[in-house]
Amino acid sequence: MSEDYRSMWTDLGLDLEAHDALLGVLGPAYQDIYLAQKDRPEGMGYFDFVMSEVHGLRIKELLDEKKAGRKIIGCYCVFVPEEIALAANATLVGLCSGADFATEEVEKLLPRNTCALIKSSFGFKLGKVCPYLESADMIVGENTCDGKKKAYETFKGLVDNLYVMDLPQVKSEQGRALLRSEYLRFKAAVEALTGVQITADSLRQAIRTVNAKRAAVHRLSALRKADPAPISGLDALLVNQVFFYDNPARFTASVEKICDELEARIAEGTGVFAEKAPRILVSGCPQAVPNWKLPLIVETAGAVIVGEESCVGERGARNLTDDSGETVAEMMEAIVDRYYQVDCAIFTPNPDRLAHIEEMAAAYKADGVIHYGLQFCQPYLMESIPVEAALEQKSIPTLRIETDYSMEDMGQLKTRIEAFIEQLR
Ligand code: SF4
Ligand code: SF4
Repeated sequence: MSEDYRSMWTDLGLDLEAHDALLGVLGPAYQDIYLAQKDRPEGMGYFDFVMSEVHGLRIKELLDEKKAGRKIIGCYCVFVPEEIALAANATLVGLCSGADFATEEVEKLLPRNTCALIKSSFGFKLGKVCPYLESADMIVGENTCDGKKKAYETFKGLVDNLYVMDLPQVKSEQGRALLRSEYLRFKAAVEALTGVQITADSLRQAIRTVNAKRAAVHRLSALRKADPAPISGLDALLVNQVFFYDNPARFTASVEKICDELEARIAEGTGVFAEKAPRILVSGCPQAVPNWKLPLIVETAGAVIVGEESCVGERGARNLTDDSGETVAEMMEAIVDRYYQVDCAIFTPNPDRLAHIEEMAAAYKADGVIHYGLQFCQPYLMESIPVEAALEQKSIPTLRIETDYSMEDMGQLKTRIEAFIEQLR
């Protein structure tokens, strides 16, 4: 950290010793995984800076925003509309955690066979190491998978500001009506929190801000179609992860800058991997920061990840919200339309997701798909079997992996992934 933030962390109630231990692992890991890569776009320097200050400067900014009267809302799912938060003078930050922490404490509250993502969110609270969580004025949980919805019942006892959003499980008229009523209830709760009434102008502006952020990552994704790949999957994943933390306008400008650089690389025919390096599409569970295990294994084996069918990726960021409505009601409807298309595996049935994986495999010219499933994640693991069968039927080689956040299976995963990549060459 470039400044001494210790008093800020103490004021937030963090456990400094545990927090030091976390940063003591993260810093060197970032060095080994990210900074050791070759030929990175210069624009990634901004994201390296963001990561080096992820618990420092960004938290200070959020606390300054709070002093100026803004509210901070933390969330765990891409179904929570950032547009509504921004329009009511709040900042939305992602809280999903991608590392094990305080596992022993967590397993006193949750069954051992709970997915790593849920356990991690509990671990960061119990270990008192997440300054985002501690800065939040409201924490939004959502009734998505069974693991999450039951976990929030317990999580409610750990924090005093949990708001639970109900979500449909079926894409039907009734499902859509539930999403609409839940977004209206959320809008009222955010307005009550901030004391700011959402207007047509503030909502339109918020939609445009979020659309600009999404459009920038769409531009970045489109550039990954080039061969040789102009950016590594590791770096692209990092951009997708920072999407959830950074100031939206600054993030957008930084992604656009990288895209300018990548366009120049593509015009020169240069890339980060050799031309014809095997191209992989990753599909499945979200890879929250600092979960970089899969791309690290894939890319050190000589293949390149060209897309993520994931909530930290294209499932979460695709589709813009129509900003042409004139009234708050019309724009709220546009928000419902946009989020209703998110094809999370919690929906039954969920044919849109398979169609999107196939579409992405073709668009990014993927040679193969790796389905990334977190252990004990029923929705994605269940879905991975028919997804694999359907892709194989279309002659798209597919590898299903099931893993967690530990490094114990690195060797075994490496062997399987290297064999898969060999088969694609
Ligand atoms: S995978 Fe489903 S539950 Fe998880 S963030 Fe995405 S939409 Fe939400
Ligand atoms: S990874 Fe699976 S089990 Fe875990 S929170 Fe997401 S949908 Fe639920």
